[in-house]
Amino acid sequence: MLEGLRATCPTLALDTAPDACEAASVDALNPFRARPDFVAVRALAVAEPADAGELSAVVRSAAAEGVPLVARGGGSGLMGAAAVVRPAVVVDLRRMNAVAIDADACLVRAGAGATLASVEEALVPHGLMLGHDPWTVGVATVGGAIGTNGLGYLGARAGSIAAQVQALEAVLADGRIVRTRPSPARSVGLDPARLLVGTEGTLGIVTEATLAVLPRPEERLVRGYRMPSFEAGVAVAARCRRTGIRIASLDVSAEDLPPAPASLLIVFDGLRGEAHLHAERALALVHAAGGEASSDAEAAEKWAARHAIAERWAASRNARAGGWLRGGQFDYAHVGVPLAALGEVRAAAHALIRRHRLD
Ligand SMILES: Cc1cc2nc3c(=O)[nH]c(=O)nc-3n(C[C@H](O)[C@H](O)[C@H](O)COP(=O)(O)OP(=O)(O)OC[C@H]3O[C@@H](n4cnc5c(N)ncnc54)[C@H](O)[C@@H]3O)c2cc1C
Repeated sequence: MLEGLRATCPTLALDTAPDACEAASVDALNPFRARPDFVAVRALAVAEPADAGELSAVVRSAAAEGVPLVARGGGSGLMGAAAVVRPAVVVDLRRMNAVAIDADACLVRAGAGATLASVEEALVPHGLMLGHDPWTVGVATVGGAIGTNGLGYLGARAGSIAAQVQALEAVLADGRIVRTRPSPARSVGLDPARLLVGTEGTLGIVTEATLAVLPRPEERLVRGYRMPSFEAGVAVAARCRRTGIRIASLDVSAEDLPPAPASLLIVFDGLRGEAHLHAERALALVHAAGGEASSDAEAAEKWAARHAIAERWAASRNARAGGWLRGGQFDYAHVGVPLAALGEVRAAAHALIRRHRLD
């Protein structure tokens, strides 16, 4: 297949060096993350298309030969979806990283291989921000975020990336290049771009996305609170939503089950004066739930360090091979649960941890 591909697309960058193939065969899932059975296979080659036309040639050739393709962005996915588990060609999209901004329309058009950080950087001079802000902002790509329907720190404000996708260009399994049109914010009927979001490259490989972006807030307040329990923190979150208090980000954490105290971090942002108003109203709810304000400096420090763990992960090859989790000191799973079920789910998780002596 590789010879045929070189002949039909002589400009295509195709790397068959064992080191490159090995590095492109794993993502952030590995045997140390509770999957001892998980073994990646070395990719046959890494194709690095420069545009949708080259990618289309790769897809046609792979389809004709029955060779699987694995789309790859930053390789930071946690669930093994970018890992190679049987002989396959990896399609690394990172050369397709152009970014163009239409500031008046609050839209950015970005190549699938652009990192989220590079999109954010391009938006800053226009007074705009991406909105999608995961831990891995420096390494994850636009294509990877769309492939996983990623959710970031500003999810309370921006939603998951699906909420921002206005249009996509993608290569389908038969090599066809499809381009959906940016639909107006309020439209009716099927939105074909949304069909591809969260499908991990199985329905097509995204080559470019048009994303709705947000105004950069004029002010941002990061507030920390001490709460008598995790449940009290959750109650504040629910009350904020019911009252219309606008939150950009909210994080409740507690070391243990009740009666352990909890800490609550809330980020408010918006036009000057607006964030203060929301923060003031939230403080009243915190007091009503038996909590109190804690150190703003500590909260600001926690917020500023939000990308640190992923930066460490990305910086260290050892970390990429699983060393950062060796011994099982730390791992996590993401689950979406209704607010009302959170306490129950948390208690069940603690019971499991104790039963398996992981505490
Ligand atoms: C320490 C750490 C923290 C993390 N924190 C977060 C977080 O806060 N929020 C969050 O959402 N995720 C988080 N993740 C997971 C990961 O960063 C996200 O899933 C991210 O969106 C993946 O982007 P990527 O470019 O690395 O994609 P990859 O890992 O390369 O790929 C992920 C999936 O998308 C597919 N894909 C890649 N590119 C394309 C494309 N162009 N077209 C179609 N499919 C494609 C791949 O085949 C694969 O199925 C974290 C991961 C780590 C290691």
